[in-house]
Amino acid sequence: MNAMNAMNATNAMNSINSIIVSIGNELTSGQTIDTNSAYLAGQLDMLGIDTLSHVTVGDDRAVTARAITAAAAEAELVLVTGGLGPTADDITRHALADAMGGAELIEDVASLAELEDFFRRRGRTMVDANRIQVMLPAGSRAIPNVCGTAPGIAATIGGAMVYVMPGVPHEMRRMFAERIAPELPAGQGVVVRRILHTFGTGESDVGERIADLMARDANPLVGTTVAAGLVSVRIAGRAASAAEAERLAGATIAEVSARLGDWVVGEGEQAMPAAVGMLLRQRHQTLATAESCTGGLIGEMVTDVSGSSDYYLGGVISYANSVKRDLLGVGDDILAANGAVSEPVARAMADRCRDKFRADWAVSVTGIAGPTGGSDEKPVGLAYTALAGPDRTEVHRHVLPGDRPTIRQRAAMTALNHLRLRLRNNG
Ligand code: AMP
Ligand code: MG
Repeated sequence: MNAMNAMNATNAMNSINSIIVSIGNELTSGQTIDTNSAYLAGQLDMLGIDTLSHVTVGDDRAVTARAITAAAAEAELVLVTGGLGPTADDITRHALADAMGGAELIEDVASLAELEDFFRRRGRTMVDANRIQVMLPAGSRAIPNVCGTAPGIAATIGGAMVYVMPGVPHEMRRMFAERIAPELPAGQGVVVRRILHTFGTGESDVGERIADLMARDANPLVGTTVAAGLVSVRIAGRAASAAEAERLAGATIAEVSARLGDWVVGEGEQAMPAAVGMLLRQRHQTLATAESCTGGLIGEMVTDVSGSSDYYLGGVISYANSVKRDLLGVGDDILAANGAVSEPVARAMADRCRDKFRADWAVSVTGIAGPTGGSDEKPVGLAYTALAGPDRTEVHRHVLPGDRPTIRQRAAMTALNHLRLRLRNNG
């Protein structure tokens, strides 16, 4: 604590640090994803408070007590969620008492009255087991719970502020926002986070182009992550005011975009289909899709964007050869001579689709998503994507890495990316 305080005192922003502790066997076993920590970290960001680490422990009194003790020794603020319920596996209050140096649990009179009232209003009788929920370590105080039974607990350990909240996400969020955030020391800064998605190259290529921006002590702090075929650049700008943090993050976004050029797809959840949609809308052009191995994934991605009816006409999921033939009009001879996963079939699917839908653009995908169905000649991951446009049809051959969902996702993204690049370069 003292060493950390000394270090913080020399920090430019001089802000306090936090550690978030999540408690529950459902979390350590992986059955429930820890969304509480993500929420709290985001809230702390906006208050200008850094999160040093997220700690997840099971419903074990000793382990939890050690986690709280360690967190309070390292950070000025410790946020704990979970394990405040009335059942035997709810051990957080005991663990907190242990971490406070063996504090006694005492019934909180005001909280008991509120709890009795909570049951009365619902026409239920309170069972004795519930009384444990108003037992607080001596020296702590209750934080009223406006939407559940268990009050939260505020305590200090050494110089650290420790807040314990219920695990139920909506109760935790409300308690944090209404009761805890207002009493935290004013943050001496604001963090604005933005994320820029790229497609078409690896993380190392992206990293190389922006290496100098990725220094660990830089502001904005820049990092890369990979998900669903997208390499994403995360940017966190920190400043005394939100406006200044926005300005810093915006300037870095512009610099990163300039360096990464055509790889940059955009920002936000629906980056790829939204980018394609924006370009189609600008040109007043339309799109149709003919999908085999992606089974409608491209159509799903495109229509996930609100307003996509302005440019998306529809698609055919031509999974079977008979559908490629009967609905799209891909010739039996082409299918027989080349097989369904082939350059000529991808080309014919896109061409026929464009004609049938009277679309400006049609994309098609045919491939082998695996894990079965591959051969030496046509391995798992082989995919052809075709793009038929006003003046020509282009087909690309890919051998995509990954398991079935990854291959399908990448094939869909790759097909949309070709369209994006062609629209962007006035193709
Ligand atoms: P508890 O307060 O420990 O009784 O937790 C009640 C319920 O809230 C659990 O059964 C979980 O479903 C949920 N929960 C607890 N902790 C978390 C967390 N960190 N993230 C998401 N859900 C949680
Ligand atoms: Mg629990």
